[in-house]
Amino acid sequence: MPNTEERIRRALGGIVHPETGQDIVSSGIVDNIAIQGDGAVITLAFNRKRDPFANSIKRQVSAAAVEAAPELSGNVVVAEKEMPAAPQKEKAPSTTVGIKHTIAVASGKGGVGKSTVTANLAATLRDMGYKVGILDADIYGPSMPKMFGVEGYTPRAEIIDGQDYILPAEADGIKISSIGFFISPDDALIWRGPMATTALKQLLHQTLWRELDFLLIDMPPGTGDVHLSVVGEIKVNGAIIVSTPQQVAVADVRRGVNMFRAEGINVPVLGIIENMAWFTPAELPNNKYYIFGEGGARNMARTEGIDFLGDIPIIQSVMEGGDSGMPAVSTNSEVKNCYRAIADRIVEKLEQNKQ
Ligand code: ADP
Repeated sequence: MPNTEERIRRALGGIVHPETGQDIVSSGIVDNIAIQGDGAVITLAFNRKRDPFANSIKRQVSAAAVEAAPELSGNVVVAEKEMPAAPQKEKAPSTTVGIKHTIAVASGKGGVGKSTVTANLAATLRDMGYKVGILDADIYGPSMPKMFGVEGYTPRAEIIDGQDYILPAEADGIKISSIGFFISPDDALIWRGPMATTALKQLLHQTLWRELDFLLIDMPPGTGDVHLSVVGEIKVNGAIIVSTPQQVAVADVRRGVNMFRAEGINVPVLGIIENMAWFTPAELPNNKYYIFGEGGARNMARTEGIDFLGDIPIIQSVMEGGDSGMPAVSTNSEVKNCYRAIADRIVEKLEQNKQ
């Protein structure tokens, strides 16, 4: 039977770098396999700094080595060799050049339905005949892959004229690129902050969107580095803020609005969407229960001089849609009408802003 190192090397030979199509052993990515005591340290050397597939390959390497060498009882460390800084390649033009409108969907705090609104709005715009893409930049909880049933998607790469591009997933005609394709929930912590923003920049400029009428960016909740880096990297034509009617949620919205309006950022706030505005039980279709208070976000929009884009009730199928990979606008006509009215207003506002 081959020794431990040999078995691990053979197992790693089955792992392919998605960009080059070559296995990581013969292409030299596996730099060293060191058996130390009852453990192994595997060092990988990628051809460049911040290879977008590095994390996913590291995970595969670890799993393959643990399986190939059960005598190590899982004691396998996968390290990445420091690369010397590569000479700067001429920068490729950003892939956002073919996008007509880029819209950031933000919220003051988490859990208000920002991602659900992004997904349903995207589906509505698609139904209106627009070409739509979503960039899931919510590094704290990327949920677009699940909402569109493409969780298993492994981002593929394409090289055009010597430049690397990332192919987005596609679900019912909507192109989806997500930070979630590059991290597992366990990695999430270390990705927060600077590393996440570096990866995001790559997603922003290298995703092969081709032509789009709308790119919706699902932002992380609150205000922070990701927001600043997105608006610093690409032209964002407008921001939409999602809130529930509660006063606490509404107070956080103000901070978000101020950020987009700040000097040096200057992203027009297209308006506020009030989500979970009321509840109507199926057996009492004419009753509206304002569980979180009535019209908090609507009132706030008025006092802040922001457009109110519309409200969306609490509906069971909205929640189920988020879990089933099919946004609720595709299955529920009440939700569909709410979103259609909101999308019409957004399109109208963008037209106005252009003039
Ligand atoms: P966020 O992106 O703001 O963190 P999510 O979009 O993940 O929020 O929504 C949080 C939860 O609320 C999800 O379980 C989602 O399905 C549910 N949800 C969002 N909007 C509605 C709604 N209008 N009716 C019912 N459930 C909703």
